[in-house]
Amino acid sequence: MKYSDYKKLLKNHHLRITDCRIDVLEKFHSTDHALSFKDLEDELSDYDRVTLYRTLNSFIDQGLLHRIPNDSGMAAYGLCREDCTEEEHHHDHVHFKCNLCGHVECLPNYHTPVIDLPNYDIEESYLILNGVCKNCKEELQPVS
Ligand SMILES: [Zn+2]
Ligand SMILES: [Zn+2]
Ligand SMILES: [Zn+2]
Repeated sequence: MKYSDYKKLLKNHHLRITDCRIDVLEKFHSTDHALSFKDLEDELSDYDRVTLYRTLNSFIDQGLLHRIPNDSGMAAYGLCREDCTEEEHHHDHVHFKCNLCGHVECLPNYHTPVIDLPNYDIEESYLILNGVCKNCKEELQPVS
């Protein structure tokens, strides 16, 4: 994506254009896995924590990112590729967490099963698959 595409994306989600927002978006678009707040802090050290934190939250509020709870104790954040808006997120995809590299990935082509629970109101549901990701799997291949 080009600089102008990021600008357009921010505009479409009713966000003012700032350097930090552009840099954070770029970071998410240039990696194939979800990022934690710590990843952003480490990689975008020009910005202070508060600015990064606010940026992250504004992206969640405006439907650009979604939060992915997982067992690492640190939430990961993934890009919304569906048509999420400031009104609501629509996610029903499965996530994968690699036990070796710790990366969390969105699997947009796989959907969480719908569970019909009479007398209960389900507000959120997450399905995280744990295992070995394709990058780590390649590294595990024995070299002959
Ligand atoms: Zn979303
Ligand atoms: Zn891995
Ligand atoms: Zn996701």
